[in-house]
Amino acid sequence: MRIVIVGGVAAGASCAARARRHNEDAQIVMLEKGDYVSFANCGLPYHIGGEIKKRDGLLIVTPDYFRETVGADVRVGHEAIAIDRESHNLRVLSDEGAEYDEPYDRLVLCQGAAPVIPGLPGVDHPRVFKLRDIPDMDAIEEVLSSNARSAAIIGAGYIGLEAAEALRHRGLEVTLVELEGQIMPLLDAEIAADLTQHLEEKGVSCILGTSVEGIADAGGLPELKLLGGGSLNVDLVLLATGVRPSTGLAHAAGLDLGATGGVKVDRHMRTSDSDIYAAGDMVEVTDTVTGEPALIPLAGPANRQGRIIADHIFGRETAYSNTQGTAIVKCFDMVAAITGASEKTLKRLDRPYQKIYLHPYGHASYYPGTAAMHMKVLFDPQDGRILGAQIAGRDGVDKRIDILALAVRKGMTVYELEDVELAYAPPFGSAKDPINMVGFVGSNLLRGDIEFWYADEYPQRTAGGLILDVRTRKEYADWHIQDSLLVPINELRERIDEVREASDGKPVYTYCLTGIRSYLACCMLKHNGFNQVFNLAGGRKTFESYQRAFPRL
Ligand code: NAD
Repeated sequence: MRIVIVGGVAAGASCAARARRHNEDAQIVMLEKGDYVSFANCGLPYHIGGEIKKRDGLLIVTPDYFRETVGADVRVGHEAIAIDRESHNLRVLSDEGAEYDEPYDRLVLCQGAAPVIPGLPGVDHPRVFKLRDIPDMDAIEEVLSSNARSAAIIGAGYIGLEAAEALRHRGLEVTLVELEGQIMPLLDAEIAADLTQHLEEKGVSCILGTSVEGIADAGGLPELKLLGGGSLNVDLVLLATGVRPSTGLAHAAGLDLGATGGVKVDRHMRTSDSDIYAAGDMVEVTDTVTGEPALIPLAGPANRQGRIIADHIFGRETAYSNTQGTAIVKCFDMVAAITGASEKTLKRLDRPYQKIYLHPYGHASYYPGTAAMHMKVLFDPQDGRILGAQIAGRDGVDKRIDILALAVRKGMTVYELEDVELAYAPPFGSAKDPINMVGFVGSNLLRGDIEFWYADEYPQRTAGGLILDVRTRKEYADWHIQDSLLVPINELRERIDEVREASDGKPVYTYCLTGIRSYLACCMLKHNGFNQVFNLAGGRKTFESYQRAFPRL
């Protein structure tokens, strides 16, 4: 068996290593057009920022390691340029300019994705960079060591955020320019708004809802011309505007591409030619929740797909099911994470859902080193199945999103989350873990124990009722929703008639800081004969995030 793998990073390297574990005799050839295999591309911003001190730390596995340990014939600086499917030959161009044919029994394409370079005038300015591989990182490093003081980053997705932090660590003035009206457009806007605020606290300027129309030269340095006027003079520009699957070779060979532009594969990662497999950022996957074809370029799926290909080549029926887009990003002292569908996606697909917001602490609030997180969980209104979740916070975000990711993958419901038993001691969690809280709140909603009103319904929905603030006088004096009546929770029992009079048979919309005291208020009111009581989901915290995300003009 002669396996030729094109691309030696996440999917390709996983496939080669797994293939060897299956079979000692297979000939495994791995072609990589760059100079590095299996390098830690996810670590690049952290080397720039100084957290990963040694550049070599990013070179997880060297070509020599692969040759010696995996027994693979690794050829860096070799680019696959054409596939002759008929004769099972791959045309290869070496960096010395030599062309040759490489025969294969099975061909595995793991060519990844290439950064999208916007077609802007001046985009080829020598101080405009991307950050996809080691040479990109080296080029940025060179400019930084020549005393660069300011940077503009175009695109506030994963790389934009990670690079913003890295460049601030290096002492630069940093401006993020993002086309959408929010950073991290994968997240819903009210969750992203918490991160934007944090970025600004950390000295990153965020220019949202616009882009760049060109890059001029100002004495050897780039001058960004913003769409709609204004300009920015900086020492360097980083393009972080997303990636596009590298499908040129596959397309030219007549392999089927999907509607998204990624290579179409079956559940064993076979392309439309059963002797050619493909994996990683270049393939189209099925979205776990929506069932739609999607491009979800992430390292985890790429690694698992590479492994599945090796299994299948050696006769196992292992299959790749779908991708739910579980992702996490660090943004200074905050962390944002997502799994499954966002509300935006569910709305676009007209898919019914319920949503809840919570602000639990990462661990017991009395034990030092924790903070409240902002959790949003979406679930099916009929059976309570978790459809998606997003969290922005500080500690404990990673483990909660991972549990919710498992819940999405396994089709678990909010009822089941009421019941999960998780590790607890004060430094690590709470006796009622945030995951249990998701279960409690979601189940309360589905069982009709509570009804919510939402920040995005204000002021239309509340106009026909009474808004009841049940926080303290001090909290009310500090901030309150316009036209709300203050009745602190500890006075509510005695002042219930006052609330009855003020509401005059109309709905009562309660709120507090996070939704807990206002939930108690709802229960109290219901037990006193009020039958239209609604709790503001996520309380003031979510309300303010929403207002920041969608400022009213
Ligand atoms: P991205 O898709 O995360 O973000 C691109 C951003 O650029 C989006 O916010 C988009 O709206 C914006 N944009 C696009 N065109 C623009 C324009 N003309 N002007 C201004 N903004 C524009 O992509 P990325 O940050 O380039 O990262 C690339 C890939 O790397 C990701 O898709 C991801 O797979 C991977 N990655 C993941 C992680 C992680 O999981 N933590 C970290 C780094 C990179």
